[in-house]
Amino acid sequence: AQDTMLYLDGVSVAFDGFKAINNLSIIVHPAEMLAIIGPNGAGKTTMMDIITGKTRPDAGEVMFDGRTDLTKLDEAAIANLGIGRKFQKPTVFESHTVWDNLELALRKPRTIFHTLFYTPSSENTDRITEILGTVRLLHRKGDLAADLSHGQKQWLEIGMLLAQDPKLLLVDEPVAGMTDSETEETAKLLRNIAQTRSVVVVEHDMSFVRELGSRVVCLAEGSVLAEGTLEQVSANPVVIERYLGR
Ligand code: ADP
Repeated sequence: AQDTMLYLDGVSVAFDGFKAINNLSIIVHPAEMLAIIGPNGAGKTTMMDIITGKTRPDAGEVMFDGRTDLTKLDEAAIANLGIGRKFQKPTVFESHTVWDNLELALRKPRTIFHTLFYTPSSENTDRITEILGTVRLLHRKGDLAADLSHGQKQWLEIGMLLAQDPKLLLVDEPVAGMTDSETEETAKLLRNIAQTRSVVVVEHDMSFVRELGSRVVCLAEGSVLAEGTLEQVSANPVVIERYLGR
């Protein structure tokens, strides 16, 4: 449908007979943030791996932008469609400046050669300035990425993903290890990004999920256990018993 950015329809995958994802159906709308919560082993990472093509499901469809079945594509093709994934650990180029990290991220195609034998370019100056503004790092543009705080490295990496202009951004536990104020800033940052792009955040820090203020899906045993606002999901008796009340 037109108003669907991502639609997982009856997706299942088993590892050695164990169903990690079991008939999972999830919709993500354009310019919507969705938080995925659930206990360890619920299938959150596997779900992200299926969307990005790292894991191929045994059954079901993953429709992107109303027309492309991602289960037929490999990881590179899926990334090229406009799906960016932010893993938990930041992977920025520590020995380059904040500015040059973004400059590298904007190059197409980008190769290891560009990183090792970096020569600055004055292309993309406006775009870099805009993205650094979005991720609140303009004041650190001349500093080495190595000198950023943990939170700032995470924001820089989000900026590097924005450089690819994704329609869908997948974010895995972005605030692990962040200070309270960094966590708050990250919620603002992601809410801002979700005004124009779809964002899926896997998270188990409930106070952060509350700050995101987005729709929430709670997974358990590879299926949707509950969905709605955080208030609705956390009032669900099954969720309380299986997850929150631990
Ligand atoms: P979550 O991210 O919610 O903690 P995962 O998606 O990592 O959950 O894991 C879901 C279940 O699938 C777990 O029981 C895990 O042990 C199992 N699993 C995940 N990946 C593999 C794999 N490659 N091989 C075997 N089992 C796996």
